[in-house]
Amino acid sequence: MKDLIYLSYSEIKKKLNDGSLSSKDLTSAYLKRIEETDSKIKAFLELDKTKILKQADESDKRRKEGKLLSEFDGIPIGIKDNICITGEITSCSSKILENFRSPYDATVITRLKEKGFVLFPRLNMDEFAMGSSTENSAFQTSKNPFDPERIPGGSSGGSAAAVAASMLPVSLGSDTGGSIRQPASLCGIWGLKPTYGRVSRYGLVAYASSLDQIGPFSNDMEGISDLLQILSGLDPKDQTTAKVNPFESNSVVEIDWKGKKIGVMKTEEFNFSEDVNTRYLEVLKSLESKGATLVPLDFSLLKFAIPVYYLIATAECSSNLSRFDGIRYGLRKEGSGKLDDLYSDSRTAGFGKEVKRRILLGTFSLSSGYYDAYYGKAQKARVLIRKQYAEFFKSVDVIVQPTSPTTAFKVGEKTKDPIQMYQADILTTSVNLAGVPAINCPAGLDQNGLPIGIQLTTSHFDESKLLGYAKSLASLELCKISLPKEIP
Ligand code: GLN
Repeated sequence: MKDLIYLSYSEIKKKLNDGSLSSKDLTSAYLKRIEETDSKIKAFLELDKTKILKQADESDKRRKEGKLLSEFDGIPIGIKDNICITGEITSCSSKILENFRSPYDATVITRLKEKGFVLFPRLNMDEFAMGSSTENSAFQTSKNPFDPERIPGGSSGGSAAAVAASMLPVSLGSDTGGSIRQPASLCGIWGLKPTYGRVSRYGLVAYASSLDQIGPFSNDMEGISDLLQILSGLDPKDQTTAKVNPFESNSVVEIDWKGKKIGVMKTEEFNFSEDVNTRYLEVLKSLESKGATLVPLDFSLLKFAIPVYYLIATAECSSNLSRFDGIRYGLRKEGSGKLDDLYSDSRTAGFGKEVKRRILLGTFSLSSGYYDAYYGKAQKARVLIRKQYAEFFKSVDVIVQPTSPTTAFKVGEKTKDPIQMYQADILTTSVNLAGVPAINCPAGLDQNGLPIGIQLTTSHFDESKLLGYAKSLASLELCKISLPKEIP
């Protein structure tokens, strides 16, 4: 029973479908693991065992009756706390939404339910997805399963930690500037940010609408491609979803590196930690030995990615979060009886420090007199970054970079200095600004036994190739990783 939790996603899928495993046994094994382990990891904000087991029982019943909804029926999946599920609390790890129950399902949830997945809400995150460590959650800081004194990354830290601690095989997160890839990197698992417009954002609580995408975490590559197939596609409820050929999981095949052109960074220009730098160079060397050609790219625009991202993301969040005012949504404080006080008292009590900082920054850069100098300029720079990626893909097939400049840092190490925390996203934010897809692939451990991640990027809607390269990378000896069985 205990070993069930250490199975990969693809082994689980196989066993469920050949009848050698029931969803109930599998689900119960995960629930037991969560019970034993989550006091150390703090990935879950809430766990309703009865509701979860009921879904597993229903799946087993369908299997017995030959009425399976899909080949994914009965697979457990974790859900980040900013994705709406009918009747469930969706708090975004914020006090302002602590008691908010969603009256509807996000489109991704509808799609998972139609296939018979067993949903495990609610995974911890940075408040409103703003952060890189889950330390901005109003309720708890999640811990890294490789070393619980360290952070799991963020903002989808709970979703990543749950998979890395073998509490689930797959989970959903959201990525606005790196919140899937960075925690996947720090936790040693796969995490994909799809092309902007590939996956519906309907029912994802908005942070920065022009950057947000929902995507999967998984303990193997098959989980990533299966989930992308299930989650993606046109949605009339989200006008930004694109009319493109649907993504097919079985279109993903390992790609031969021979003759491929790989875009790489000149590492001297960036401040990667020594272990990350060394592993990156080893990976590149190994790809070169398989016949790929390395093409150094000019990433000088990257130095603008963080300021541009933080101007655009904060501007959009200041507008998106204006609905949480104590009247339309959220916590209400009505001390003085005056309307203006109700707004400000509710928002003062409901939002945490980082969220307030970003609302202020965003409101400032959008205000008349400053708009052209800040927000307008950031939009122009965003266009340049987008063009730069289009230019890159004229000369390379795939870009290979580290995902994070360092491995997991200690809890509390960066909380005093927001600018230093923002630097954790130096390699991920430009991808969201350009709208292209990117994936984190595990690439072994550093000297302290902490995971290192490699980010692969391709052009818009080229996920079949992206995942093909990721699959090939996963088969390199250098990139093999074992998730911790016992949490230290
Ligand atoms: N860490 C980045 C931020 O704080 C990215 C967050 C995200 O992708 N949701 O905004």
